Amino acid sequence: TDFGYGFHVFILLYQPFIEKTLHEGVERFPCVEVRMGNEVESFSDSGEGVTVVVRDHSTDKVYEVKAKYLLGCDGGRSTIRHQIGAELIGKTFQQWLVVDVRVDDPSKYPSNLQFICDPKRPVVTYPMAFNHHRWQFMLKDGETTEQMEQLETVRTLLAPWADLEDVELIRKSVYIYHARIADKWTAGRVFLAGDAAHLTPPFGGTGMNSGIRDVSNLSWKMALVLRGHADPAILHSYQIERKPHVQKMTRMSVNFGRILQTESRTVAWIRNLLFRLLNFIPIIGRKVRSGEFKPEASFLGGLVASDHQQQSRAARGKLFIQPKVRTTDAESILLDEVLGHGFAVLGLEVDPRCVITTESQAFWENLSTRFVRIIGATEQPGPEDGLAVVADLENKLAAWFNRFQVNLVVIRPDRYVFAVFTTNTASSAAQELRQALFPDGQVS
Ligand SMILES: Cc1cc2nc3c(=O)[nH]c(=O)nc-3n(C[C@H](O)[C@H](O)[C@H](O)COP(=O)(O)OP(=O)(O)OC[C@H]3O[C@@H](n4cnc5c(N)ncnc54)[C@H](O)[C@@H]3O)c2cc1C
Repeated sequence: TDFGYGFHVFILLYQPFIEKTLHEGVERFPCVEVRMGNEVESFSDSGEGVTVVVRDHSTDKVYEVKAKYLLGCDGGRSTIRHQIGAELIGKTFQQWLVVDVRVDDPSKYPSNLQFICDPKRPVVTYPMAFNHHRWQFMLKDGETTEQMEQLETVRTLLAPWADLEDVELIRKSVYIYHARIADKWTAGRVFLAGDAAHLTPPFGGTGMNSGIRDVSNLSWKMALVLRGHADPAILHSYQIERKPHVQKMTRMSVNFGRILQTESRTVAWIRNLLFRLLNFIPIIGRKVRSGEFKPEASFLGGLVASDHQQQSRAARGKLFIQPKVRTTDAESILLDEVLGHGFAVLGLEVDPRCVITTESQAFWENLSTRFVRIIGATEQPGPEDGLAVVADLENKLAAWFNRFQVNLVVIRPDRYVFAVFTTNTASSAAQELRQALFPDGQVS
């Protein structure tokens, strides 16, 4: 299932390829410079800006970088986290040997994600993109990293699935799995994101996902602040919105780990019996296979419509759906392709520009707002000035609006719902958003 978001809930990727793609992707932005082999040693925050001390390891020279804000995405051992005095709260779990290989013929290996709950040696295995395959083997008490990373050990462990001679070995490393979340993610002009802010066992496949969610939450807010289109106070919403979801995801991964890692034969027997019984309850089997157990990415507090905007209470803070739509140019594309990178206002069978008043026109323009009118599945979108028109191919958008009994929605750049309105309340949309972006009322 895709839960309405346009992509399957489980996607098995290969992280080094994602990182390579990201590296290549930033090359198109002249304002971005990637300095490999440079290490941040320390920073100071003057209250007006941040000065970062960096060592270039190719020359051993130390230099300074000045910036308005510092985003510490420096992984689990984060220097930045240490320097802001944040503490990682939580637990450290078992060690696991991770073996990655490239195979010639993926059809010879397990084609799906498997948790092998064998009390003698729990194993997780799954295929990844472009003929890559991963096995994770739990270390038992007394086993050492050195011993587990030996080629002969890897050969023996892989034997039930693969002959080491038939595959290309890419990685054989022992990792310690943690479930730890920093007690604070920000200090002054400094923010933590990704593993620097939270570490989770990989059983739920949520570590990098959470990091990407972090930066997709923070980056547009920072851009608005730097352009003077929002007050720096909105940056406080970052931790408020992200931390509860990270906590839920971490809990889920830890629970998976508990089920998987049992080494007691008796407990494993009871667990297996319980799972066999649960399998007879169709709703449970469906929930497990479809991934419905994954905590919904939503938040209650943060940068969303205020409590007094009653219409929005049920919808605000939820990730907006992403169904297929037809446009003037494309027969069937995902909605996000139409929404751009800024705020978007969507109107079901109404012109969403009804949120614009004479007084709020510049405000919406400053936010590079995209206006989108939704029409019925069988209607043909025609070009309209300053407006995108999309046909609701699967009637999912109409169902969403009907569920909340509204016909207008304001969506944030990260595609979370800011607020919903009817045509009667549309003129208050700008006021509501302005209030959220400038909580102290000091519009610059
Ligand atoms: C075995 C395993 C399986 C996993 N499976 C999944 C999965 O299925 N799904 C998922 O979503 N996640 C998974 N993860 C988690 C995922 O790999 C991490 O959550 C992700 O890599 C974190 O990204 P990050 O950029 O925050 O940190 P990192 O990937 O650790 O990157 C931090 C970077 O900062 C650099 N750095 C550190 N200190 C400094 C400094 N002082 N100055 C300059 N640079 C510095 C480091 O060199 C590194 O390049 C898995 C992890 C493991 C170990």
